[in-house]
Amino acid sequence: MFPEIDRVLITREEIAARVRDLGERLSADLSRDLEADGHHPHDEDRVVLVPIMTGALVFVADLIRTLPVKLRLEVLGVSSYPGQTVRSKGARLKNELPSVLSGKHVVVIDDILDSGRTLALVQGIIGEQRPASLRTCVLLSKDVERAAVVSADYQGFEIPDEFVVGYGLDYDGYYRNLPEIAVLKPAALDGPF
Ligand code: 5GP
Ligand code: MG
Repeated sequence: MFPEIDRVLITREEIAARVRDLGERLSADLSRDLEADGHHPHDEDRVVLVPIMTGALVFVADLIRTLPVKLRLEVLGVSSYPGQTVRSKGARLKNELPSVLSGKHVVVIDDILDSGRTLALVQGIIGEQRPASLRTCVLLSKDVERAAVVSADYQGFEIPDEFVVGYGLDYDGYYRNLPEIAVLKPAALDGPF
């Protein structure tokens, strides 16, 4: 699709199958929690998904369509990779979280778990609101030592420590529309790292 792509790590078929698995597990677990609270999966105002923008955009769009649960989305912006860079510069919130998460079943959705700073930040902020449950779901997890102690409850694929793009993940804002997870040619990564 783009000449700058070096190779595809995960195909669109592999992603689709894994997203269906994750959705099945997540809806089974949420349904169990709701029942334990005396609620039904179609009851209002119980489940909130918090996708971290912009990387989780494509993943959450596919994932929510596998969840037969009544839910709301509350997007959160976290920036860690300003511009042409492939190294996390630490996580920073870009918008306030709506203070409606106490007592709700909350699922934080991100594209990839790398240093762990993003999920640790978001988990901390949401945890303060005392949700009924707080889960984390990532499509990808990098096989690296984390800077923050954090893990994802649901994880699609573990990948090696390489900078990837596609399926929502960008380099300098581009390649989010690539349907696969791919690695760019080294010459395409021409930013000041
Ligand atoms: P962490 O805070 O765990 O280091 O990184 C999480 C965030 O960094 C992700 O939400 C994602 O936006 C970005 N990120 C980490 N690794 C990659 C990668 O390989 N490719 C891209 N495009 N973004 C990444
Ligand atoms: Mg991100």
